[in-house]
Amino acid sequence: MLYDVLIVGAGCTGVMTARLLSAKNVRVAVAEAASDVATGATAANSAIVHAGYDAKPGTLKAKLNVRGNKLMKRLSAQLGVECKPVGSHVIGFGDADLPMLEELYRRGIANGVEGLEIIGADRLRAMEPNVSPEATHSLWAPSAAITCPYGITIAAADNAVTNGVDFYLNFKVSGCAYEDGVYAVTDGKKAIRAKYVVNCAGVHSAEVASILGERDFPIEITPRRGEYFILDKVCGNLANSTLFVCPSDRGKGILVSPTVDGNLIVGPNAYAIGDADDRSTTAEGLAEITAGARRIMPNVPMNMAITSFAGVRSTPNQYDFYLKRSEQLPGVIHAVGVESPGFASSPATAEYLAGLLEEAGLVLEDKKDYIPTRRKDGNHVQFNRLSPGEKAERAKADPAYGKIVCRCETVTEGDLLDMLSAPIPAVTVDMMKKRLRAGMGRCQGGFCSPRVAALIAEKTGCGLDRVTKHGGGSWLVTAREEEE
Ligand SMILES: Cc1cc2nc3c(=O)[nH]c(=O)nc-3n(C[C@H](O)[C@H](O)[C@H](O)COP(=O)(O)OP(=O)(O)OC[C@H]3O[C@@H](n4cnc5c(N)ncnc54)[C@H](O)[C@@H]3O)c2cc1C
Repeated sequence: MLYDVLIVGAGCTGVMTARLLSAKNVRVAVAEAASDVATGATAANSAIVHAGYDAKPGTLKAKLNVRGNKLMKRLSAQLGVECKPVGSHVIGFGDADLPMLEELYRRGIANGVEGLEIIGADRLRAMEPNVSPEATHSLWAPSAAITCPYGITIAAADNAVTNGVDFYLNFKVSGCAYEDGVYAVTDGKKAIRAKYVVNCAGVHSAEVASILGERDFPIEITPRRGEYFILDKVCGNLANSTLFVCPSDRGKGILVSPTVDGNLIVGPNAYAIGDADDRSTTAEGLAEITAGARRIMPNVPMNMAITSFAGVRSTPNQYDFYLKRSEQLPGVIHAVGVESPGFASSPATAEYLAGLLEEAGLVLEDKKDYIPTRRKDGNHVQFNRLSPGEKAERAKADPAYGKIVCRCETVTEGDLLDMLSAPIPAVTVDMMKKRLRAGMGRCQGGFCSPRVAALIAEKTGCGLDRVTKHGGGSWLVTAREEEE
C-alpha cells in the first residue's frame, strides 16, 4: 500500500490532523510507538481548553489557541465528548500582580479572545467562594473550557478510522529511506510507504526529524515534567472554573480546576528531566503541588487525593510552536515543540499542517461520503450518561448493560463489549480505562481491573496471561497455573 500521507505520532496533534485529512480524498496512515493513541503529553496534562490570552500576539501559539478553542467546542459536540465552558481566572494576590493581569488582558484582546475582564475580589469570591482570602483580582476568561484530552483524541481517532485512516500501533519509527518521491518509514521490521510525512512525535519529535533524514535540525527539545494530584469527586465542586495564578518563566504555574468528569485536578509543577519518558511522581514534587494548590484554595482537602500522575512537556529552544515544511526533505512537515497550549490548539494546528501539506503539493479534495461522527452509526453514549429511563430500556434490550463492572464509575459489561468492537478496539486494560473510566474512580481499579482483563481475554480468545495493562510486556498475570 502506498499512502499519500504518513503521520508519525498519535497524540492530539497527529490524530486531529489524521481526522481532518480523513475528510479528503487522500490515503492516510498513522504510526504510533505506543499500544494506543493519546499516550504521550495528550494523556497527561491539565485538560484546559485555554482561552488564548497567554500567548504573545502574532505567534502561532496565539492564533492557533484562539481558533482551536472554538473548533474544540464544535468537535466535542460532533464526536459526543463532553466539553464544559467553565471559564478561567488568573488570580492576582495584591497590586503587585496587577501589571501582569493587565498584560495578559492586552494580549488577549490583541489575540481576539472574547469576554475578557479584570474583576475585583468581591466578584471573584461570588464566583469562587473557596478562593483564598488573599486574592484581590482576577483576569476572567469565560471562553476557557475543560474536556478530556485523551477522550476527544480517541474519539477523533475512531472517527478517522471510520473514514478510512489506518493506524499502526506499536510501530516505533526507527528508520527511513527515500526513493523516487516515496518515503519508506520503518520500525525495523515493517515499512510504511508514503509520499508525505508529518512528524507529530511530541517530546521525541526532534529525534524523529533526524530519523527522517534532517541534518542540523534547528529545534532542540527539553523534556519538562509536570506532576498532579486528582482529588475525589466529592471535591469536584470546590472550584467552578479553572483557577490559575500569574504565569512566570516556568509556565502557567500550579492550578486548581474541576475536571469534566467531576473530580478536582491540582498541578502541575515544571522541572527539566533527562529521560523524556520518565513520568514518575516524587514526594517533593507532590509537596510543591499541595503548597501551590493551598495558595489558591487554603482549605483544599488534599487528603481526598485518589491518585497522582505526571506528564512531560516538549519545550523547544524557541518561544513558538515549530510548524514548518522541511527545507531538506521534500514533502516532510514538522510539528515540533508543541507544548502548552498544544492541546487546545490541536484542531487548528491540524488545519495549519494540512495547509503546509497543500503548499508542498498535496491536493486535498473533499470526500463525498465523509462521516463526521465517531462511528458509521453515530456516537456511542456510555450507560452512565443515560437518564434512568434510558438505562432501564438499554439494560432490558441488552442484559450486558445490566452488569456493572466498575462500581466507582458505573461502567457496564455492555460498555466494555462495545469498546472491544470500536473502530480502534480496546484490547488492553488501560485502553478500556481511558475510553470508559473503568478503574479511574476512588478505588483506582482495585475491584474492576481483574474483571476487565478477564472479559478482554474471553472475548479476544487470547488467554488471561496474554492480556496486558498497556501493551509490550505489561502482563497482568505472570504465569499460567499448570493444569492437573
Ligand atoms: C504537564 C502538562 C500540562 C499541560 N496542560 C495543557 C493544557 O491544560 N492545555 C493545553 O492546551 N495544553 C496543555 N499541555 C500541552 C499539551 O498536552 C501538548 O501540547 C499536546 O498534548 C501535544 O500533543 P502532541 O500530539 O504534539 O504530542 P504527544 O501527545 O506527546 O504525542 C506524540 C506521540 O508521538 C509518539 N511517538 C514518539 N516517538 C515516536 C516514534 N519514534 N515512532 C512513532 N511514534 C512516536 C508518542 O508515543 C506519542 O503518542 C500540557 C502539557 C503538559 C506536559
